[in-house]
Amino acid sequence: MIIVMKAKTPREDIDKLIKNLEVKGMEVHETIGFNYSILGLIGDTTKLNKEQIESYDNVEKVMRVQHPFKLASRLFHPENTVIDIDGTKIGGDNITVIAGPCSVESREQVIEVAQDVKKAGATILRGGAYKPRSSPYSFQGLGEEGLKFLLEAKKVTGLPIVTEAICLDTIEVVAKYADIIQIGARNMQNFALLKKAGQIGKPVLLKRGMSATIEEWLMAAEYIMSEGNKDVILCERGIRTFETYTRNTLDLSAVPVIKEISHLPILVDPSHATGKWRMVRPLSKGAIAVGADGLMIEVHNNPSCALCDGAQSLKPSKFQQLMDEIL
Ligand code: PEP
Ligand code: MN
Repeated sequence: MIIVMKAKTPREDIDKLIKNLEVKGMEVHETIGFNYSILGLIGDTTKLNKEQIESYDNVEKVMRVQHPFKLASRLFHPENTVIDIDGTKIGGDNITVIAGPCSVESREQVIEVAQDVKKAGATILRGGAYKPRSSPYSFQGLGEEGLKFLLEAKKVTGLPIVTEAICLDTIEVVAKYADIIQIGARNMQNFALLKKAGQIGKPVLLKRGMSATIEEWLMAAEYIMSEGNKDVILCERGIRTFETYTRNTLDLSAVPVIKEISHLPILVDPSHATGKWRMVRPLSKGAIAVGADGLMIEVHNNPSCALCDGAQSLKPSKFQQLMDEIL
C-alpha cells in the first residue's frame, strides 16, 4: 500500500501516522519529496482500511499495490486450481460442461434431461430444488423432494450434481445430496451463507452477483476460502447494465481478468446472461474462445412448459448440436 501525504504536512503528523501503522505490524518506508512525502507500506495490508486512512486530514490519497483478496489471488497460488469431483475435473486443461434444467420439476423430467445431457457430453448435472425467484408467487422449487430426484438422476447417469443453497436453513440438507453447492447471484454477498458454505466440506460454485464488481466477487470467494474451503468455482452469469435487449449483459472480459488475477476455475453461464436460448450457442463458443474452463447451460425437455426459465433453455437436440460444435 502506498500513502501520499498532503503537501506541507507537519513532520510530527507524519511521524504519528508512521507510528500508528507500525503498531499495526507494518514496515513503513518514507520517501521525502520536495512537496509531498510518500509512505510505502510492507506487510499484511489486507487488514488496513484504505478508505479510513484516506479520510485522515493529512492524507492526499492511498493506493493498494496488492488486491485485498489473498487466498483467491494468483500471486499467492500461481498454478491453476483443479477441482476433482470423483474423477470429473474442473479447471486446468479441462473443459467442463454443466447442464440440466433450471428447476427440478419431477422425477421423470430430471432423469430424462440428465440422460439427454449426458449423451451429449455434459459431465455434471444441474437443477434447482430451492429456487431464488424474483416473485413470491412463482414456482419456488420442490425442496428436499427435488434433491431426492436429483440423486436418482445421478444414480441413473453417474453425473455428479450441482444445486443451489439459498439460505442458512437449508444449506445442510443441500450439502447432504449435492456434489457441488451453488451460491446464486442474489446471494453472492450473503456473507453468513458464504461462511457456512466455507465450512460445509463440499466444493462451491459461486455465481457473480448481478451488480458485483470482479473484486467484490473475488472477495466473496475469499469469504468461502477463509473458512478453509479452497474448492471454489467461479461462474460469470451476466451483470446488469443499461441494455435491456438481453436479460443481463454477459461480461466475457471477466474471464481473462479472472485468469490473470486468480487461480480459481471460471465457468460461463450464457443462459442466465442472455435469457434467450438463441444466444446460448454463440456465447458458449465465445466463452470457450476467451479461455473459460467450461459452461453452465440450462436444458429442458419441454422448454415451452418449463416452470422456470423456459425462454433461455435449450431443447436436448439443440444442446447436442452445441456440444458437437464446441468439441
Ligand atoms: C440458477 O442457476 O438457477 C440461477 C438462479 O442463476 P443466477 O443465480 O445466476 O441467477
Ligand atoms: Mn434458471
